[in-house]
Amino acid sequence: MRIAIVSDIHANLAAFRSVLAGAEAGGSLDALWCLGDTVGYGPQPNECVEMLRSYKNVTVAGNHDLASCGKMPTDDFNGAAATAAEWTAKELSDSSRDYLTELPLVIEEGAFTLVHGSLRWPEWEYLLSSEQAQAQFELQKTRFSLVGHTHLPAMCREDIASPPPLRPAEDGARVELTEERMIINPGGVGQPRDGDPRAAYALYDSDSATITFSRVEYDIPETQAAMQQAGLPAWLIERLAYGK
Ligand code: ZN
Repeated sequence: MRIAIVSDIHANLAAFRSVLAGAEAGGSLDALWCLGDTVGYGPQPNECVEMLRSYKNVTVAGNHDLASCGKMPTDDFNGAAATAAEWTAKELSDSSRDYLTELPLVIEEGAFTLVHGSLRWPEWEYLLSSEQAQAQFELQKTRFSLVGHTHLPAMCREDIASPPPLRPAEDGARVELTEERMIINPGGVGQPRDGDPRAAYALYDSDSATITFSRVEYDIPETQAAMQQAGLPAWLIERLAYGK
């Protein structure tokens, strides 16, 4: 089976399309596993939800999904994020809102656990440090966990002797899945934050038991123009060009 692991699509349809084209270039996809924040920040929330739903998908909720369907207050969001969440809430169709409202925070799928932030705090914790990775492994019942939220492609192998570091994952990096427990973050589709503006995703191939990290270019000006038209905050529009 070939499964694309995507996260933080953030209503960026051009980025999502490029990721799907990139993932499908090597063969058709059997499913999408989506780690949340399908909406928020970007200009095409309904289109992205519909695109996701056109695939067999296993999807968890992120903080932006929860905020945009009224399940989480935006008090702790920064100004631009809160403005975008309010815009998204008004924009969502009933069908998209119902879909997002019903998403669980954590899903176990075979040897994988899917969660947006971390198992300790699914909708909010940014899993970045060794200490946080250790805490994740303590709560992780499956061999692998897949997280998003930071928009930074990264991976971590469990090390009983010393707290494991989370290492950035480069474009093309390939991870062999063995008995070793791991945490994997595919990076962000719709708003990368590692200084590389290309959309990020990972591809799980169950036949070769590998996960491969990938980056693809997409039409950034197309998304920026749609954001401008929607009246979304300038800072959100500009940051797409820098991948920050
Ligand atoms: Zn996000």
